[in-house]
Amino acid sequence: MSEAKRAMSDDGPPPGARAPSGGSDPHAVGKRGGSIVCVACWNVDLTMRVPRLPAAGETLLGDTFTIGPGGKGANVAVGAARLGAHVDIVARLGDDDFGRKALPFWQAENIGTVHTSVATGEPNAVASILVSADGENSIAVFRGAGFALTAEQVQAARPAFANAAIVAMPLEIQDEAVGSALRLARDCGARSVLNPAPARALPREWLALVDVLTPNALEARQLCGVAEGQAMDIPSLGQRLLDLGVGAVVMTDGANGAWVFEHGQPSRHVAPFKVQAINTVGAGDAFNAGLCVALAEGQPLKDAARFASAAAALATTREGAAQAMPRRTEVTALMQT
Ligand code: ADP
Repeated sequence: MSEAKRAMSDDGPPPGARAPSGGSDPHAVGKRGGSIVCVACWNVDLTMRVPRLPAAGETLLGDTFTIGPGGKGANVAVGAARLGAHVDIVARLGDDDFGRKALPFWQAENIGTVHTSVATGEPNAVASILVSADGENSIAVFRGAGFALTAEQVQAARPAFANAAIVAMPLEIQDEAVGSALRLARDCGARSVLNPAPARALPREWLALVDVLTPNALEARQLCGVAEGQAMDIPSLGQRLLDLGVGAVVMTDGANGAWVFEHGQPSRHVAPFKVQAINTVGAGDAFNAGLCVALAEGQPLKDAARFASAAAALATTREGAAQAMPRRTEVTALMQT
């Protein structure tokens, strides 16, 4: 049995899964048509605004409630598709109402879904989020079917990897899927962009397979084993990450902008774009989306990081995460200001 068939018989293909139709976009002109594969977890955010966070055992009434799309890799897929890339998503969906929301949402965003599957009888990933009036939040995440993406399912997506310039992934999937995706990307000649979030220890042999690592400053400290309270400047952190064996590092640092580190070159700062930020939740995902799209089009890393900064800055001006991802024309306009 082929790898693709085996994966589908474990977890059935969702009805109506299809390839993206965005391949003719004029911006998708880089190596292999600028295609991007996102190895992702589909997560549904259940967000309630409350006057204050409840104490243990207390019941409070909420002010508003929303159900929204979430999952870092899924947000990156939406962001990249909106910026004009041909995007395929690899994901394992729950067999419930939350899981069933993924396909129509992704297809409306022009994302290819043939490499998704439904995990029979398993619940989808959800995040239960309480946000208080003073902006504090408390979040519980159920990792559900998405986290358990298997190496076989990743391997079954080989045709998409073989066609991709870039393979992007955060760490919302189990180790065997991360390792499998990194190896397959290298085998297929695609560049890997790993966002190490949520941060966890990564085996050395994987780091050698990462072409571009995109931590934020906190994740960079965690990956380098820097103790809380211990001072370490950003250039030293970047150098330590390069020493771990990754090809390059693009580190984000919130409103301070981003940094690019490449072997044998001085570190370079990428200034943030000046915007009226109201919500930075999707900033890192928009940054990764912009970076992947620009790299897929063949831009040098520093230029790609500037494009990414513009996409991220725009995302901070809107509510939501996936919903906040900007369009290509907006990024182009901001870069010209
Ligand atoms: P994460 O969401 O992963 O923690 P960051 O907070 O580091 O990511 O933000 C990612 C990128 O978003 C930054 O490198 C920067 O380019 C952009 N960004 C974040 N906050 C702002 C802001 N207030 N103004 C402009 N750009 C911002």
